[in-house]
Amino acid sequence: MEEPVNIPEIFGSLVFTDSEMKSRLPEAVYDSLKKTLSEGGEIEKDVANAVAGALKDWAISKGATHYTHWFQPLTGITAEKHDSFIAVGPKGTAVTEFSGKALIKGEPDASSFPSGGLRATFEARGYTSWDPTSCAFIKDNCLCIPTVFRSHSGEMLDMKTPLLRSMDLINKEALRILKLFGMTDVTRVVPTVGPEQEYFLVDRKAAEKRRDLMLTGRTLFGAKPPKGQELADHYFGSLRPRVKEFMRDLNSELWKLGVYAKTEHNEAAPAQHELAPIYVAANIAADHNQLTMEKMKIIAEDHGLLCLLHEKPFEGVNGSGKHNNWSLETDTGLNLLRPGKDPASNKLFLLILVAVISSVHKHQDLLRIAVASASNDNRLGGNEAPPAIVSMFIGSDLEDVLNTMAGMASSNTKGASRKLESGVKSLPDINRDTTDRNRTSPFAFTGNKFEFRMLGSSHSVAETNVIINTIVADELRSYAEFIEKAEDKAAAIDAVIVSNYKLHSPVIFNGNNYSPNWSEEAKKRGLLNLPTTPDALPYLVSNENIELFARNKIYSSAELLSRVEVLFDKYAKEVLIEANTMIEMSSRQILPAVLKYQNMLVDTLKARSELGLRYGSSAEKLLADRMDPLSTELLFLTDELKAAVSACSVLSSSREKANACRDNVIPKMAELRKVCDSLEEITGSEYWPIPTYADLLYGV
Ligand code: ADP
Ligand code: MG
Repeated sequence: MEEPVNIPEIFGSLVFTDSEMKSRLPEAVYDSLKKTLSEGGEIEKDVANAVAGALKDWAISKGATHYTHWFQPLTGITAEKHDSFIAVGPKGTAVTEFSGKALIKGEPDASSFPSGGLRATFEARGYTSWDPTSCAFIKDNCLCIPTVFRSHSGEMLDMKTPLLRSMDLINKEALRILKLFGMTDVTRVVPTVGPEQEYFLVDRKAAEKRRDLMLTGRTLFGAKPPKGQELADHYFGSLRPRVKEFMRDLNSELWKLGVYAKTEHNEAAPAQHELAPIYVAANIAADHNQLTMEKMKIIAEDHGLLCLLHEKPFEGVNGSGKHNNWSLETDTGLNLLRPGKDPASNKLFLLILVAVISSVHKHQDLLRIAVASASNDNRLGGNEAPPAIVSMFIGSDLEDVLNTMAGMASSNTKGASRKLESGVKSLPDINRDTTDRNRTSPFAFTGNKFEFRMLGSSHSVAETNVIINTIVADELRSYAEFIEKAEDKAAAIDAVIVSNYKLHSPVIFNGNNYSPNWSEEAKKRGLLNLPTTPDALPYLVSNENIELFARNKIYSSAELLSRVEVLFDKYAKEVLIEANTMIEMSSRQILPAVLKYQNMLVDTLKARSELGLRYGSSAEKLLADRMDPLSTELLFLTDELKAAVSACSVLSSSREKANACRDNVIPKMAELRKVCDSLEEITGSEYWPIPTYADLLYGV
């Protein structure tokens, strides 16, 4: 019998929550800390020491022996360096110690973290500083203190700093708008995020036999299995026992860490699953999603599984994304993207809606960049994921409302008036009927939030939400400036909604985003189509974007330049690791196996001829003839890929390397794969050296 899980009891048991802190600190200390946190400024030494002491006692009572400054460097994953609480006591004894200084600031030797040239190696030290907006927690007997990571000259070296900056920014601009609507009781607006996390689970023993899975997280070879996802029998299907046990453990661990793990189910591809938490503030969601990904990998191991967070682990079946659900919530509990019962007269909602539409249209490049990586390039534009074109879906009811207001013809051929008169006034219709229909849209309004579906499964949600918060805030600021100046506020609000909707409605597309006609149509509308990461990255440092981030104080131009450098570098490195893995597998596993099989055929033919048997049209002869040119080609293509890799490696800039990867290395990888997969189809299965797609996709 499994032990019952008591959710309220275990929830947050490994988190140093605000109430835990309050109960462990003298009142004056707690109040002083809260005051500093809300007003800014340095935390007093005595206060820091008291908090550290309370944290240490709590952590030790939960079994912790170490502490770490937990941060999110530009690698996109989290980093930690552990120190134990040990200190030398009197007469050679050991005591535990954790000072306010150690809580507030850390100096990891950070020279190996990517900085994109922001730091020369002689001043390589960055420092981490406590981020009290996120609670400390215990992971694997280690007290993790969420921190931000900066260089000594103050530039950001992590994902968290810009996210917090962007949250303050959108708070400020949204409050300005709310004031114009007379909502003076609101004191804070927070962007909320609920990331749906997709992943694959495969048998670990099988996966360990494949270098590509272990080193790159995806299969670089593999013929199509006899059964893929065509029957759609996996989606929402019942869970295999091992998967169920994995999910059970994962949920418990996440609940203990204060993550509201909520929904779990099988996804469309065989071996693919999803976990969605209940949404929280964007910065907490970013931390929690990192913890979720980490826990998924660790707990999978306990169950003899390998968790793949790669965006495209298998060719020919769905890849994995991370749907970023986003909205704005006030401290009075109002969701600014809730249409209400009568959206047509809910001008605040319409204004926010139009601000999102306009900012997405204006900054398609940035949203594309937010999801740009070598791994996600394999997924976007595959026929199960949005293409690399950013468009939006808001549902026909809301479109009708805006079209009517703007005096524009409805793009909805089914007729606007019918909808306007009937369905549009009731909230349930807005929610279910019209807003969740288009599952192919990269940026869809889904009832009371936007769902951005281009994000890759392995990505941090931080970057994406930095972009969304910044572009929407920038838009809201210009609206506020205009309305504040106007005599007639109501008329100005209408004018802002109408003029911006007219200008930016071309980003709205209700059709099938996966259809080939869409890219033609998108071109006519002047929408950007940036299929690969190196196509997209240069836009990050366009004058327009440098100005956007500077005026909003999110990234300085030095930070942006470093960011782009890091991203080009990461792209090239990931592609080259894949290419080298292919070269190794092809030369040392696949070709030898194929030749062994071929030689067996040749030996049989020799024996036949020695016995005087006919062999000219025997199966052995025909098969050997088929294999011979393919194995020769495999050898040649492996050499050609090697040459492409060498040519790329000598290039000096990471941008040139990335372009060479896109133009020369990736096409060769595709050629090599094709030949290899053809050989897999005709080589005897006991000769084939690595587990097949069927072994992996149906092995759990
Ligand atoms: P679906 O698969 O249909 O998109 P799910 O229920 O799986 O829907 O996921 C919806 C996600 O959106 C959940 O993580 C949920 O918490 C999140 N969400 C719901 N409301 C909001 C909101 N106001 N802001 C941000 N995220 C939200
Ligand atoms: Mg979704």
